[in-house]
Amino acid sequence: MKSDIQKPRRKLLQHLAREIRDERVLKAMAEVPREEFLPEGSRHLAYDDVALSIGSGQTISQPFMVALMSSVLSLAGDERVLEVGTGSGYQAAVLSYLLPRGTVVTVERVPVLAQSAEERLRSLRYANVTVREAGRELGCQEEAPFDAVLVAAAAPRLPTALLSQLRRGGRLVIPIGSLEEQELVKATKTDEGTSIQILGGCRFVPLVGQDAWPENSRPSKGFFRS
Ligand code: SAH
Repeated sequence: MKSDIQKPRRKLLQHLAREIRDERVLKAMAEVPREEFLPEGSRHLAYDDVALSIGSGQTISQPFMVALMSSVLSLAGDERVLEVGTGSGYQAAVLSYLLPRGTVVTVERVPVLAQSAEERLRSLRYANVTVREAGRELGCQEEAPFDAVLVAAAAPRLPTALLSQLRRGGRLVIPIGSLEEQELVKATKTDEGTSIQILGGCRFVPLVGQDAWPENSRPSKGFFRS
């Protein structure tokens, strides 16, 4: 099994290196074993650049999106980072690898996913990650402020609750748009307010809750890529 995935793994890394310039992110993508975050039946697809089902109607994001979102945050290695949407825990593991002197707080609204991600991250020894079940408010006010926030689910607009959990100079990366398609947006909190950069198209599962989509929201057509 292990040797079967070495070739697709190398191919994926070559593919990512064409667009992702941050060497540390590429190293993290090379080191974190994505197959460990997948259900048994889809492990052979671990190094295809696609989102895959992880149960509960949710997906593990496409590796390219994980690498892009991680590099957009320009992490030095000692920050406090919040992830919204733990899912399998894979993105949290990549952030953990990028933060040898920092910490990751990751929140998930589906309890069974939060529990299995926590167990998986613990057994793989990503010790600087805390998994929390999401509360009513988006993010994790109790652990704020954060240097960076990564949202792994799509919102209809920039959630003010998440901006308020960022410290000044902090970066937020989030897919914003309709249920069907979004643009990846980077928001930076400055002295004057918030500066916005649009990074390109993407497709994520919906961010659910206050300041986001109502429960049971689904895209009207198509298949999720991220
Ligand atoms: N980062 C994940 C992929 C996440 S898919 C990985 O690497 O596997 C998006 C996740 O966001 C889903 O698991 C979904 O349940 C979760 N989610 C949706 N709305 C949320 C909210 N308000 N708070 C926390 N998690 C949320």
